[in-house]
Amino acid sequence: MPRLLILGGTSEAAELARLLAPKIDVVTSLAGRTTTPNGLPGAIRIGGFGGAEGLEAYLRAEQFDAVIDATHPFAARISAHAAQACAAAGLRLLALRRPSWLPIPGDRWIMADSMAEAARMLPSLGHRAFLAIGRQELGAFAGVTTVWLLIRLLAPETLALPEHQIVLGRGPFSLADETALLTEHGIKVVVTKESGGTATYAKIEAARTLSLPVLMIRRPPVVAGVEAVAEVAAAVGWVGRP
Ligand code: NAP
Repeated sequence: MPRLLILGGTSEAAELARLLAPKIDVVTSLAGRTTTPNGLPGAIRIGGFGGAEGLEAYLRAEQFDAVIDATHPFAARISAHAAQACAAAGLRLLALRRPSWLPIPGDRWIMADSMAEAARMLPSLGHRAFLAIGRQELGAFAGVTTVWLLIRLLAPETLALPEHQIVLGRGPFSLADETALLTEHGIKVVVTKESGGTATYAKIEAARTLSLPVLMIRRPPVVAGVEAVAEVAAAVGWVGRP
């Protein structure tokens, strides 16, 4: 039976494990940043591998046949490591990348190339901002002293940031709830990563409804030369190919 490693941490990775685990030997790898999802089929391993070399050693020791990198579009480091490790170990690698969001009429997007650039641009866009960018890169906003920040996190945290408030939440979010959140807090600008997917899209729709600008941080570039698909079904098909 083929043995597949899924690099996970996304809803697409979980969906892939659900579809493939009854048919083949599947191990899902998680970074361990958040609580482990319940009921994920197949085996689960948690924590970093120790760089590309560590991942290569793991792939060889565990005798995998193929790897699907189904990590978040902003998890660029593990994707680069996967490409390097699979090339070195001679394994097939597929990247499963959800499509980016695309602006539609009514959207007021301002694109930033990095979190640091977004932090520099923010004060000119509004004095009350909603930050829905996760926890790891919030430090980029430490020098933003003229904007009040509403920050959404998965779990409570003490942040070394100027005036801010934390709101806890885990997607999927509804348009009604996102609109109410932005209105209630008098938000003037929404800051988000260009993540794609449906679970967190409601904040984009809410901003459109309220005519608010969205400061959108562009995705990091994909690793050159790695075959990629956008849909879970296509990744399932890839596994079946010789
Ligand atoms: P990253 O910057 O690309 O990775 C940093 C390090 O974390 C990697 O070098 C690796 O450590 C370890 N790592 C990352 N993903 C792993 C995985 N699936 N299994 C085992 N180790 C992993 O990634 P990140 O942005 O911190 O994201 C971490 C995880 O959260 C990813 O699995 C991603 O799918 C998920 N996630 C990220 C975001 C986001 O916005 N970045 C959003 C939602 C979910 P070693 O070098 O020691 O191997």
